[in-house]
Amino acid sequence: MENRTIKCTAVMLAAGFGRRMGTDIKKQYLMLGGMPMFLHSIRTMQESRYITDIIVMVHKDDVEVVRELLEEYGLTEKLRRIAPGGKERVHSVALGLEAVDWPCDYVFIHDCARPFLDQETLFRLFETVQKTSACCAGVPSKDTVKIVDENCDVSKTPNRANVWIVQTPQVFSLDLIRNAHRKALAEEDYLLSQGIILTDDAMVAELAGNCKVRMVMADYRNIKITTPEDLIIGEAFLKN
Ligand code: C5P
Repeated sequence: MENRTIKCTAVMLAAGFGRRMGTDIKKQYLMLGGMPMFLHSIRTMQESRYITDIIVMVHKDDVEVVRELLEEYGLTEKLRRIAPGGKERVHSVALGLEAVDWPCDYVFIHDCARPFLDQETLFRLFETVQKTSACCAGVPSKDTVKIVDENCDVSKTPNRANVWIVQTPQVFSLDLIRNAHRKALAEEDYLLSQGIILTDDAMVAELAGNCKVRMVMADYRNIKITTPEDLIIGEAFLKN
């Protein structure tokens, strides 16, 4: 396939509440470097030569205000839809995948809470997904990781060389990940009863898609802004 024939949709997730930020306004709308935080990665996607279409998932009450913000900041070039998200992240992703009714080979699922997405990472993901159908941005863990039991007692120490910290975008063939989400959500109650919470899409693909997900080297700056100190780190990155 030549590059220009490959259609990639960015599914941009901004439908969370960001409660851990402890602010009155949802964290995605906090200002960072002169624009609402969630717009940074939408701009990166719009500027990417690999992304052809964008869908933005937002809280159902925010559809109009987000439309105005996207227009104000000139971010509607590739915009296909602004759609209401769901209760948890996994539901917002599933709704986004079901809404894609335009030509699409691959989806780049991205948390808008990660404003420092870079073009090199998008390139590496684009190259990899064509070989593997499923891949995921991440970085090797700098820290040793412990697996603990319900008492917080250490039960296992994985070899650090094999531990990666998972980020987004997570990139898949549309059919593969849409089917995996359908299957996983149909079994959601059972999975929950087994203590399995679907926190990322690679996990959905592993469990329900029965497929291998390749980790792709991203950037240590691609942090998720979750708590107030992350905003300070984010401002420091921007100053650099
Ligand atoms: O809450 P957390 O930071 O893990 O959320 C990760 C991303 O998923 C954020 O960009 C958030 O806006 C999004 N999200 C969503 N729908 C939800 C919950 C989270 O789109 N129901």
